[in-house]
Amino acid sequence: MLTSSKSRSIKELQRLSADYPDIPMEAIIKQDILRIGIDFSEDSCRIASGYKPKDYFIFSFDLVTLDELEKEGAQFLNAPEEVRFSGGEWDLKPTIFNVRLNPISPYRVEIFEGKLRLTCDEEFLADAEFHPVPKFYDSTLSSGKSISQISPVLEWGYLVYLTVFRLCQYWGRDEECQFCDINENYRQQRKAGREYTGIKRLEDILEALSFIYEKDDVSKAITITGGSITSRLKDMDEVEFYLQYARAIRQKFKDRWIIKTVVEAFEKKDCLRLRDEGSVDIYHPNYEIWDQRLFATLCPGKERYVGWEEWMKRIVDSADVFGPENVIPNFVAGVEMSQPDGYSDFNDAVESTRQGLEFFMSRSIMPRFTTWCREPLAHLGQQNPPPLEYYVKLLRVWRDTMEKYQLPTPPGYGEPGLGKAVFSVSAFMDVLR
Ligand code: SF4
Repeated sequence: MLTSSKSRSIKELQRLSADYPDIPMEAIIKQDILRIGIDFSEDSCRIASGYKPKDYFIFSFDLVTLDELEKEGAQFLNAPEEVRFSGGEWDLKPTIFNVRLNPISPYRVEIFEGKLRLTCDEEFLADAEFHPVPKFYDSTLSSGKSISQISPVLEWGYLVYLTVFRLCQYWGRDEECQFCDINENYRQQRKAGREYTGIKRLEDILEALSFIYEKDDVSKAITITGGSITSRLKDMDEVEFYLQYARAIRQKFKDRWIIKTVVEAFEKKDCLRLRDEGSVDIYHPNYEIWDQRLFATLCPGKERYVGWEEWMKRIVDSADVFGPENVIPNFVAGVEMSQPDGYSDFNDAVESTRQGLEFFMSRSIMPRFTTWCREPLAHLGQQNPPPLEYYVKLLRVWRDTMEKYQLPTPPGYGEPGLGKAVFSVSAFMDVLR
């Protein structure tokens, strides 16, 4: 019972819920699980069936390496992509989070009386369910590749996620974003002998989407993304490389999906190409972190090739092309507290990030955020997580700033609000009123 034997973690949830009554408990729990990861009992992934396992769609998004997970148990190699929790003593509304494995997390999914449940410090929190396998996942491509490899889905089926280039040409410590493990994750997946395609062939993508087109009516949006291309790839520059997928998908499937691209902050002429040739609907030129000094330290490749001032200017300019409501740059929430260079007081970190929100939202551009995952193979390495209160305060600041400028619900993210949101790597959609 939550009320009779409160663990430290649960007491902290209750304290934050009392101090921030406008932030739902569901969002607080979701942020905490994303912040510190989740454990699975051995039988939870053995007994449960018909669920979609983690596809490692771009980064590892785990708090331990694959090698370590292999030693910890089979459940970690077969864990679900997403979990939805609901009910419990707090009568929680259905809330979806993306799985970040951590065998020593206080949060755990286990089986009790034949049913999945979410616990915290061994106390029952809520009922749980795993993301079901989509209907089209049993289709095989003529190349022999699996659908889950070429066009995995996220957000409880809403989003088809196409990481068409699973590496980044920002290379090594002097260029890679210090929180990002894209290149290391590629290496560890290959080393583990997994099918893990570096560059996805356009033919495979189109064939996979044909199966989805035929069999599925849940997915509504497609994300086209991958690492930065600083020179050329397959004899194309970055714009042309990503544009070829958008163009072909739009030509073949017309308006079946909203098309989103997560790419560099391009100059206006290249944004025009994305819009006019690729019919891209939504543009995500991710700035990762607002603080100018930390941007240079934590994103050295972006600083070297584009620079903070130019990056932010390009984001603003792109609003003329796509419309401000369709420019949704991401930042990695919490990484401004990474050490040794980041903020040590969470209030200062939120204040810095708020200034970025103010800058963009006052121009009707709406940044969104993912929750920093402290991946061990990223250059930042082992780090303490930001306090949970950082995330709770950030949710309030993000929503209040959005409301101050009366911005619309961001397109391409499904339904907003508690019990309905599907975006699984932060709770920004869950707290919309
Ligand atoms: S640009 Fe940065 S965050 Fe994006 S893939 Fe490259 S290193 Fe990772």
